[in-house]
Amino acid sequence: MTESELRARVKAAAGDRAALDGMRKSFDAISKRQKENAPRIPDLKERKDRLRKAKESSVGNEDLFKQALATLQENGFRVVVAKTAEAAVKRIRQELEGYDLVVKSKSNVTKEIHLADALKQAGIEVIETDLGDRIIQLEGCEAAHPTGPACHLTRKQISKLFTKHFGRPVSEDPMELTRAMREEIASYLSRAKVGITGANAITALEGAVVVVHNEGNASKCAMLPDKHIVVTTPEKVVQTLDDAVNVVKLQTYLSTGKITSAYVNVITGPSYTADIEKQVYKGMHGPREVMVIFVDDGRMSAADKEPQYCIGCGMCLLECPVYNVVGPIFGVPGHMGGQGVYLEGSRGRLEEARDSGLYLCTSCGSCIEACPASVGTKKGLIAVREKARQQGLSPSAEHAAIAASVKNYDNPWQMPRKRKARWAEGLGLKGKGEVLYFAGCSTSLLFPESAQRVVRLMRASGGEPAYLGQEEKCC
Ligand code: SF4
Ligand code: SF4
Repeated sequence: MTESELRARVKAAAGDRAALDGMRKSFDAISKRQKENAPRIPDLKERKDRLRKAKESSVGNEDLFKQALATLQENGFRVVVAKTAEAAVKRIRQELEGYDLVVKSKSNVTKEIHLADALKQAGIEVIETDLGDRIIQLEGCEAAHPTGPACHLTRKQISKLFTKHFGRPVSEDPMELTRAMREEIASYLSRAKVGITGANAITALEGAVVVVHNEGNASKCAMLPDKHIVVTTPEKVVQTLDDAVNVVKLQTYLSTGKITSAYVNVITGPSYTADIEKQVYKGMHGPREVMVIFVDDGRMSAADKEPQYCIGCGMCLLECPVYNVVGPIFGVPGHMGGQGVYLEGSRGRLEEARDSGLYLCTSCGSCIEACPASVGTKKGLIAVREKARQQGLSPSAEHAAIAASVKNYDNPWQMPRKRKARWAEGLGLKGKGEVLYFAGCSTSLLFPESAQRVVRLMRASGGEPAYLGQEEKCC
C-alpha cells in the first residue's frame, strides 16, 4: 500500500463518525459493566498475574504442545498441525469434500486465514451463527471488537440490513432482529453436517478443547453436525483445565464486563455410547468425528512470542487512543489494534504490519496497562519499526525529516535549540531541584503558555520546579 493510500484509508476511517460513535458507545457500556461487577471479582490482579505466568510457561513450549497433541489424540480427536495459513485452508477444504454447507461460530484464526472467503470460492456456503458475526458477514465489514464484532453498528443500521437480506420489513426492535436471525440460523444448523468452531483454550493435561460463548451457537455448531472441526492456534495450549478456567474468566470479564459467560464447553472427544453390549459406538447425540487443526503460520518459530500471550479480550482496544479514532483499520483480520500489528510484525510480515497501522501507534503504553497478560505491544511495535526501517520499509519522507530534526535540533519541529527554552525566560527556573519539570518539545515550542501555566500551578501548590532549559532532549 502506498503512503497516500494509507493516508486516505486512515482519513476515511476517522471520518466515519457513526461507526466510531457506535463503537465507543459499546466500549463505554463494557467499561460501565466492568466497574459494576468489579467487587465480584476481587482476585482480578492475582488472576492476571497467574495468566501471565501461565502464558510465559506455555507459549512456544514445544514439549507442552506435543503433550497436547498426544492427549487430544488419546481422547479420539484427529489432530493436524498446519504450517501455513494456505496449508490450513487446503486441509479444511479436503475435510469438506462432498459438503456444501458449514455452520461456524466465532473464531479469530478463521478470520486471520480468510477461511470463509476461501470456502465460498470452493462453492461451500459458510454461515456465521454468532449474531454479531452474521451481521458483519452480511454487511461485509470488519469486526470492531473480538467478542462484539458488530458493536459499531446501530439497531437502525441492522434493521436496514436485515430488511434487505430477508426481503421483508424487519423493525428496529432488538427482539425482532434477534428472532429473525435466530430462525434463519436455526434452519442452517438443522441441515449442516459440519460445524466449525474456534477454541479459547486447549489443555495439554486433559486433552480438552474449551470454548466460551453466550449465545449457545458454539454448542450447537460443536454438537449438532456429524463432524466438528476446531480451528485454533498453538498458543491456545495451556497446561491444565485450571489454567483454561482462568483464561475463560478473565476473557469473559474483560470483554463483556460480566463475571461468567452463559456457556463454557469442555470437549474431550467425539460423542459416544457404550450402552449396547458395552461396545463403544461414536456419534450418539453429538458428532462422530472431531478434528483439531492448529494453524501455526510462523508462530512457533517467531523469535518474539509476546503477542501470542493475548487471550483476545479486547481490553486494549477500549483504552487505545488510536483504535478509538480509526477503529478496525488499526490491526489485521482476527487481531484488532496494536496487538494484531505486533503479531504480524513478530512473524516477519513487515509490509502487512506497516499497512495495518505500524506507524499509527503513539507508543502511549495504555494497552499494556489494560492487558491481563501484560502484552508489551508498545515495546514490540517499536522493535518492529526498527526491523521495518532496516528493510527500507520506512521511514517515509516525513519520518525522515522528523528523525533528522531530532538528531540536529533535539526536537521534531525543525526549530533551533535555543527557541526551546524561550518560554521559561523571566521565570527564574533553576536547573536542579527536587522536582524536575519536563516540558517536552511540542509544549515548549508550540504551546509555550501551557508550559508557563504549569509552572504557575506548581508554584501555587507550594512546589518549585527545576527545568533543563536547552539541555532538555526530545523524548
Ligand atoms: S501503545 Fe499504541 S497500541 Fe498501545 S494503546 Fe497506545 S497507541 Fe494503542
Ligand atoms: S493484547 Fe491483552 S488486552 Fe489486548 S486483546 Fe490481547 S489479552 Fe486482551
